[in-house]
Amino acid sequence: MAASARLVLLGPPGAGKGTQAQLLEQEFGAVQISTGDILRKAVADQTPLGKQAGDYLKRGALVPDDVIINLIAERLQQNDCAKGFVLDGFPRTIPQAESLDVILKKLALSLNCVLSVQVPREVIIERLAGRRTCKKCGALSHVVFEPQRQPGVCDRCGGELLQRDDDREETIANRLTVYDAQTAPLVDYYRRQGALREIDGVGSIGDIRARVMTALGGLVS
Ligand code: AMP
Repeated sequence: MAASARLVLLGPPGAGKGTQAQLLEQEFGAVQISTGDILRKAVADQTPLGKQAGDYLKRGALVPDDVIINLIAERLQQNDCAKGFVLDGFPRTIPQAESLDVILKKLALSLNCVLSVQVPREVIIERLAGRRTCKKCGALSHVVFEPQRQPGVCDRCGGELLQRDDDREETIANRLTVYDAQTAPLVDYYRRQGALREIDGVGSIGDIRARVMTALGGLVS
């Protein structure tokens, strides 16, 4: 039977959570659940959720806990989560983490591991400012660290590369302040639960992936 991974990736914006979550999805067949991606799609599609969340995303502020908690509670009940999940961008506040504990308990599930990816501030800013996302296939790239053959065009599918609105300099500062105030306390929350593994998030994608796999050694079964 394939291993079932139930993981949380914790770390500031630009820590590489999305990239590592995509790799873990391939490794374990678990679904990546990125609240940021879900919200961005809802905003683009102008759904009721998107209309509610749009302004928060633009400012780099957190969407209210109750909105996100309901979204995750529904998402984790969908069939594809039975093969495991990698939470990327959730939880982001203590109330969200407490609610996740309750949701998982109701589903008779527990987390295998919470991976905290640590990256110094100057590296984060460099990464976020150059980060690009393909409009068509969602692949992530970087203008300096992963330049595409033709600037602005995705190597993988030829789609147009876009910069996220909230990766602009003025919003990055706000997102980092929000992270320090509201999300960083989750490291201690999960350390107390004994679920935490910390990894150095500086280096190549492959280096960090190797550290992730070492940190998970024996935890996913
Ligand atoms: P991300 O792609 O994870 O950096 O998320 C982008 C934006 O989506 C954040 O700056 C928030 O506005 C919103 N968001 C994503 N996840 C959450 C969450 N768990 N709680 C509140 N807001 C969130």
